[in-house]
Amino acid sequence: MVSRVIPVEPFDLVIFGATGDLARRKILPGLFRRFCSGQMPEEARILGAARSEMDTAGFRQLVAEAVAEFGGGRHCEDGTLEQFLEIVDYEAVDAMGDGGWEALKGHLRDGFVRAFYFSVAPSLFGALAERLRTFGLADDDSRVVVEKPFGHDLESAKALNATLRQHFAEDQIYRIDHYLGKETVQNLMAVRFGNMLFEPLWNAQYVDHIQITVAETVDVGGRGGYYDKSGAMRDMVQNHLMQLLCLIAMEPPARFEPDSVRDEKLKVIRALDPVDYHHIVRGQYDADDNQPGYRVHVENPRSTTESFVAMKCHISNWRWAGTPFYLRTGKKLRGRTSEIAVVFKDAPHSIFDSESGRHRNVLSIRLQPNEGMTLDVTIKEPGPGGMRLVDVPLDMSFAEALGPEAEEVPDAYERLIMDVIRGNQTLFMRGDEVEAAWAWTDPIIAGWQSRGEVPKPYDAGTAGPEDALMLMHRDGRRWREIRV
Ligand code: NAP
Repeated sequence: MVSRVIPVEPFDLVIFGATGDLARRKILPGLFRRFCSGQMPEEARILGAARSEMDTAGFRQLVAEAVAEFGGGRHCEDGTLEQFLEIVDYEAVDAMGDGGWEALKGHLRDGFVRAFYFSVAPSLFGALAERLRTFGLADDDSRVVVEKPFGHDLESAKALNATLRQHFAEDQIYRIDHYLGKETVQNLMAVRFGNMLFEPLWNAQYVDHIQITVAETVDVGGRGGYYDKSGAMRDMVQNHLMQLLCLIAMEPPARFEPDSVRDEKLKVIRALDPVDYHHIVRGQYDADDNQPGYRVHVENPRSTTESFVAMKCHISNWRWAGTPFYLRTGKKLRGRTSEIAVVFKDAPHSIFDSESGRHRNVLSIRLQPNEGMTLDVTIKEPGPGGMRLVDVPLDMSFAEALGPEAEEVPDAYERLIMDVIRGNQTLFMRGDEVEAAWAWTDPIIAGWQSRGEVPKPYDAGTAGPEDALMLMHRDGRRWREIRV
């Protein structure tokens, strides 16, 4: 068992939607790994809830299968799963009905942290929040965790916020964006604000541009129905990419505490210029020899929903005026890569002859695969033959640098759930942030609709439509390679 983890307070965690895909793939295995790590106290209790009738043994079986299928802790001792299952129970509850609530309440204990995870469709959030209060399960100290999508546009996000706030205060609401729980994302803040080296250069004077890529190889899979109403802009840009953009671009917060950090992120969103439609490329993956295309996957032969977006954005403030931010995300691309690249400007004057070529420092922050950071620095190519320059990466791969400890780095969901128990909202989106992000993305989507814009087709296994490459080429820049 790996030590060095600080146990959280004992808690009662109720997972609504405990039989669903997210609970089985992420939440339950993640909780088990935290249990293995020794972070979860023995008095902790995890209660599954959903409509399906199931007894305690049945739910424990489901949990054991989820752990087996989606990964337990690498260093778990024998017998730990059995101990974990002892703290797990289940109650059948319908979010829209009144049955089961008293029984669920009977499981909850006084004097413990109480958290309710809404791993259900957003249309049930209001009903759950209301019943938690009506049946007296939640009080003013309880916490609720809500999943994305948080709204479909500004209006629906405002309505969802209003519904939740009828029953809970903002400091009780934890809106998950699991990208914020990734180790590298927090390391980004450590690198920026814990070192003297980078922050003085972190502005338009020294940074040529910033690229954020979240590339997936998968298609829309079984989520076609949901995805076709959403698209890459709503599903990825409005939340994950904008959150990454905020962390890269924000001013140093006064303290590493929830509202200081979230105030700075909000300022970035509010400083984003509206995007010129010439600076956005939408794409939709095509059929290839063996595989059906997007429209077959979503069973809509005329769908104009995008599975790819690339765009150039500008932040109008003193720090970033003139430095473009290029964002790109899509499905069925060449590789599975999430990366933020800070591309610094050329040295003001080269003392080397033109044959030594153009060299730039690039700080690359990888979220997946192999979370870590690389800083490209220019050195002399070793050996005879004169002064030939070459860029070499200073590689800060966590797994290599930190050894076995890094292998036990918690998954984003694990970390975020433990933060809920600790009552730390730093890595959760505040309601006004979510609304500001929709206020920025809504006009882009409305513009597509009013112009009747159709996404550009692209071949699976590529870097997206040709126009996305041109978006950079026109500016004399190029995208970083999407690694296979
Ligand atoms: P899912 O597989 O469809 O599971 C939904 C869960 O909700 C099931 O446990 C279902 O169980 C329960 N449920 C449905 N109606 C209910 C009701 N009236 N009362 C109580 N429980 C009810 O969905 P999911 O993929 O797990 O997604 C859950 C939430 O997470 C959604 O908001 C989704 O957008 C979000 N999310 C999912 C993923 C993912 O990877 N899956 C990723 C990000 C966000 P019963 O049918 O037994 O009631």
